Amino acid sequence: MKMHDVTGTIYEGMTVYKNKPEKQPKFNRVTNGYVTETRLEIDVHTGTHIDAPLHMVVDGDTFESISMESLVGQCKVLDLTNVEDGISKQDLEKFEIQKNDFVLFKTKNSFEETFNFDFIYLAQDGAKYLSEIGIRGVGIDTLGIERSQEGHPTHKTLFGNEIIIIEGLRLKEVEQGDYFMVAAPLKLTGTDASPARVLLFEGLQ
Ligand SMILES: [Zn+2]
Repeated sequence: MKMHDVTGTIYEGMTVYKNKPEKQPKFNRVTNGYVTETRLEIDVHTGTHIDAPLHMVVDGDTFESISMESLVGQCKVLDLTNVEDGISKQDLEKFEIQKNDFVLFKTKNSFEETFNFDFIYLAQDGAKYLSEIGIRGVGIDTLGIERSQEGHPTHKTLFGNEIIIIEGLRLKEVEQGDYFMVAAPLKLTGTDASPARVLLFEGLQ
């Protein structure tokens, strides 16, 4: 059984959204010479993470509303490396996406290590198309699923249809196909997101 770890590494100086210094994680390591303890200060949207509706919806549901059952199971990696801008309905139609699918978008973003302000994102009509199908969740390989869209229509369309959003995946080494996904966030409560370890297994049903 082959496993792919599609999680970004968290470290001081890592790539963060729009390179904002306040989004950098801080590792405060304290040692008395023989016992070492590190205190971690991180944004919940750091690296590979899962968004909760509260992120973009006033009074939206917080992180514990997302069940682990919905984060573990079959998923489909879709090769969208030919897309140059927003992923549209037209880009998605050829994949025969079905109800309850969890789809992960592999784009040009996976081949970049630094933050690209022109990252590939999910356009509003693509989000609407996925909502109409009734997918379970969607993952993208950059730190945002939409890019400077006024009013955040992509997030709102997805959250409004109870579609889970994973951001910050690293899919360079993964080919298009079916995988068994284990997306395991921290067990946080009351937050608008959580970092997660995301693993894809080949040949598991
Ligand atoms: Zn986020």
